[in-house]
Amino acid sequence: MVGRDPAGVWAAPGRVNLIGEHTDYNDGYVLPLALDRRALVAAAPASGPGSTVRSLQQDPEPVRFSAATVSPGDVGGWGAYVAGVVWSLRTAGHPVRDLDLVLDSDVPIGAGLSSSAAVECAVAVALADLTAAAPAAPTATPTAAPAGRPDRTELARLAQRAENRFVGAPTGVMDQMAALHGRAGTLVFLDTRTMAVEHVPLDLAARGLALLVVDTRAPHTLVDGQYAARRADCTAAAADLGVAALRDAVPADLDRIRDPRRRRRARHVVTENARVLDVVATLRAGIDPRAIGPVLTASHLSLREDFEVTVAHLDVAVDAALAAGAHGARMTGGGFGGCVIALVDAPDTGAVATAVAGAFSDRGFAAPQTFTAVPSPGAGRCR
Ligand code: ADP
Ligand code: MG
Repeated sequence: MVGRDPAGVWAAPGRVNLIGEHTDYNDGYVLPLALDRRALVAAAPASGPGSTVRSLQQDPEPVRFSAATVSPGDVGGWGAYVAGVVWSLRTAGHPVRDLDLVLDSDVPIGAGLSSSAAVECAVAVALADLTAAAPAAPTATPTAAPAGRPDRTELARLAQRAENRFVGAPTGVMDQMAALHGRAGTLVFLDTRTMAVEHVPLDLAARGLALLVVDTRAPHTLVDGQYAARRADCTAAAADLGVAALRDAVPADLDRIRDPRRRRRARHVVTENARVLDVVATLRAGIDPRAIGPVLTASHLSLREDFEVTVAHLDVAVDAALAAGAHGARMTGGGFGGCVIALVDAPDTGAVATAVAGAFSDRGFAAPQTFTAVPSPGAGRCR
């Protein structure tokens, strides 16, 4: 489609999770915010047979597939995040059509800010809008009965299904829910069991605060296997307790888990769910958000000691931010690299960022990248 006018441009943001880590696959609570960094997708009806997708962040060679037939295994690499969404909508009974797409994103890739869900959700809203009025295209493969126009939560589930079943990444639904339900000036409080969403206001600037994001640029190692291992531990701990998910466990239950590692993993999830509710209660009550700082830090310690998903870069960034006066700091995202967030007084933002950079330099780590996060709108059409 390069060189001709698109039918429209759609956007979906990356996210940071304020608190609620490794809870989303345990039916628990999460509290992300949509970032002001986003993936854009320009879309137009296909000019030839089949769909083409280009990304300004990838090899210029377009990815090609047929919307009517594409199936898991047909498209690999980055194109799977796009083709997977088309497959997911079609096989759920929604209309799809071939499009020419161009992607452009300023969400850092692989930094734990969910560049993947940003791409999926931008494509999902573009496809839903462009097929809203059109009858379903005839497909060569059997599909489910026609479904109604998907709402935002349904689109999030469909994008997650694309990532799980087409890309092959066993991730929870938080990223897509943040990308689709984000709202300026609010956190997205999500109960992943009921999928209920509450927008919890967080006006950092009005309180003289900033949320500093530190992309540690730590090399991700062992991530896939470790993620699966944590999920398996959580599932086993829930089975030990005879509950459907760790969401249903309380601290008094933990002693009944005999295996010490499994008990630690469960303790993280149980206490992390309680911390999310604690933060939400504080913010709902209109209390000074500085009060959530120690809760953020407690989350990091739990992820370090009990869930064991931090690495030196994350721990060093948290310690340096706290030493430089942050009210609280924690890793955000799955761990094993990625980002740290720090709640800081706005005038201290530069000093905290400099302190973290200094600590990295002292240890011979590559320089981190820092920016401040502002709760921003979720996915939608922008042109
Ligand atoms: P994260 O979501 O934390 O950034 P992931 O590994 O989940 O990391 O997703 C990153 C992948 O998403 C990339 O390797 C690429 O396949 C795809 N992706 C993200 N942004 C883009 C983009 N702008 N263009 C094409 N593919 C992208
Ligand atoms: Mg991702």
